[in-house]
Amino acid sequence: MRSEITIDLGALRGNVKTLLRATDGAEVWAVVKANGYGHGAADCAGAALAAGAQALCVATVAEALVLRTRLPAARILVLGPASDREVAEAREATLELVVSSGEIPEDLSVHVKLDTGMGRWGLSELPAPARNVVGVMTHLATADSDADFARVQIERFRAATEQVAELTRHVANSAAALRIPESRFDATRCGIALYGLSPLGGDAAEDGLAPVLSWETEIAQSKLLRAGESTGYGRRFVAERDTWIGILPVGYADGFRRALRGTDVRVAGERCKVIGVVSMDATVIELDRALPPGTPVTIVGPGLPLEEHARVAGTITYELACGIDASPTRARRVVVGA
Ligand SMILES: *Cc1c(COP(=O)(O)O)cnc(C)c1O
Repeated sequence: MRSEITIDLGALRGNVKTLLRATDGAEVWAVVKANGYGHGAADCAGAALAAGAQALCVATVAEALVLRTRLPAARILVLGPASDREVAEAREATLELVVSSGEIPEDLSVHVKLDTGMGRWGLSELPAPARNVVGVMTHLATADSDADFARVQIERFRAATEQVAELTRHVANSAAALRIPESRFDATRCGIALYGLSPLGGDAAEDGLAPVLSWETEIAQSKLLRAGESTGYGRRFVAERDTWIGILPVGYADGFRRALRGTDVRVAGERCKVIGVVSMDATVIELDRALPPGTPVTIVGPGLPLEEHARVAGTITYELACGIDASPTRARRVVVGA
């Protein structure tokens, strides 16, 4: 085994139930774009629906078509824009489309998106009513960082949609669903929280969420660097004294980003630091002794949350999770609690 990614669908189902309880009557729509934030869209979508999520959201028509083959009866919303050809495919596959500009396509269910302050996709006002519009939505720019501005957006949305309150109104992402009750309306679109990751970058357990993904690898080889010897490209780590190192067979091609230099992994229960530069297929850690090949190494797991790696890399868990390559040519992917 070079790298093993375990997806705990039991944890995902628990997170959906936590969100359903927290959102107090609003529907929970499971956002499974970007291959379920790197966790595997089809497995996560099926588990989320089984746990009570009422719909799925993806970014592209192509993502939705793949899900449709596995989940013939699911309600699937495409959040991003669609070309004319994709609109035809969406109609054929009974998808629902979000419309943020131009004409409202006919003969399929449409959600109209308003821009209330995100400054990205979205119309500045509601178009003339059309029979096939089933929902109206907006997206918050600062649900995780500035609740006051989020409330300004929510109030703009409320005012702009008062006349169409019979439509399904949806605004909240994970952070808003958990922290801003007035954002909940009829449905919430929850992504990151499904996967048990904190939308606020903190401790997901505080919101009763459990991480779904864990990532293990092993020491492929350990060796002794003599004082003055270096490891890796650019000789960015030079041993000051004789130092044992462990070579892990994962690198940035697996999604273990170069920016993770300096983060910790766990070997036999102890934390070890990533040293040198992370290369495409190899990462080096500092050890306090020789360890045999095959010694298990936890990259993400109990006591080593993805949030910690994100802080070291100066990014957010969303970006790290999407980048983990669980394809069979790079890793073994194990699904538990299915
Ligand atoms: C990705 C996305 C979400 C989910 O956001 P999380 O922060 O992951 O919960 C919700 N709404 C829209 C429009 C999105 O693009």
